[in-house]
Amino acid sequence: MSRFWSPIVHELEPYVPGEQPKVANLVKLNTNENPYGPSPKALAAIQSYDGDQLRLYPDPDASDLKQAIADYYHVDSQQVFVGNGSDEVLAHIFHGLFQQSAPILFPDISYSFYPVYCGLYRIDYALIALDDALVINTADYARVNGGIIFPNPNAPTGRFLELDEIDSLLKRNTDSVVVVDEAYIDFGGESAITLVDRYPNLLVTQTLSKSRSLAGLRIGYAIGHVDLIEALTRVKDSFNSYPLDSLAIAAGIAAFEDNAYFEDTCQRVIQSRETVVTGLTALGFDVIPSAANFVFVRHQREDASVLAEGLRAQGVIVRHFKQDRIVQYLRITIGNEQDNQRLLSVLHDLITD
Ligand SMILES: *Cc1c(COP(=O)(O)O)cnc(C)c1O
Repeated sequence: MSRFWSPIVHELEPYVPGEQPKVANLVKLNTNENPYGPSPKALAAIQSYDGDQLRLYPDPDASDLKQAIADYYHVDSQQVFVGNGSDEVLAHIFHGLFQQSAPILFPDISYSFYPVYCGLYRIDYALIALDDALVINTADYARVNGGIIFPNPNAPTGRFLELDEIDSLLKRNTDSVVVVDEAYIDFGGESAITLVDRYPNLLVTQTLSKSRSLAGLRIGYAIGHVDLIEALTRVKDSFNSYPLDSLAIAAGIAAFEDNAYFEDTCQRVIQSRETVVTGLTALGFDVIPSAANFVFVRHQREDASVLAEGLRAQGVIVRHFKQDRIVQYLRITIGNEQDNQRLLSVLHDLITD
């Protein structure tokens, strides 16, 4: 605390990211990173980059990357916005589209960065409770609002909301922006990008951090109507003209060009998820059906924080949110085959001892 701070800094409640431990050899299943590493073509793009070019500023519009993304989704590059991770894209959305007179709406159990942006940009919000099975009920969003946002699949539940549900939400809600945060869409969901041409108030965000295994490079994007993209561009150009560096742009393009690697690694994660679900169920966990690269689970008898600590003592890190309704749940990222085996064997020892 300091008297030199801007008044708002005293009020901020910053997001707490999952831990990035400095210790080696941990089985790290706490931040939904991809176990398989980026596309070799993306890595080659960085290695072959002419380092002397780094004296130049990057393309402020990252237009080649936008084009690669637009080609992949069959949209116009003018419908694409890119940023330094989707967290930055989300920040610009809250700033540029959600500062409205009515409160914005999002689920009570959801990505914990949303309320943080509301604090930063002084946006009112109302939490809409998931039902008892932790499902988003879109009818509950039929009220006056300044915007709606939810992840699909939801985080941390992993549950996927069918596109026809999103479609009916959009039919009812035409006077504010609806954002579908698709950070995990490639692990078995169906993207709402196919709906953007029908709904000028729909914005879909995605990231290269999860399914394309480039969390360290920081690339996220939004796809929607050109008028929404223009708002984000205006905010971006009033904040940082060069959110993506030259290496990120080069590797991002290469990642979108390597579809075979992308599909193969997503399939491996999906298959491992089935193995992990079977193993956890056999150990007495209730597992929420997941379309993401993590599972959200509750043991029928054991306490979640005791299990999280027991795992940690054996070098396996999972995420435990100390939030009322979900305090008995653990969020466990799907790792590689070896990580998953280790997870299940440590849990087996903890539960049967
Ligand atoms: C991981 C995640 C993000 C942020 O992704 P970055 O592109 O790495 O900033 C956004 N939304 C949700 C729901 C996430 O889980």
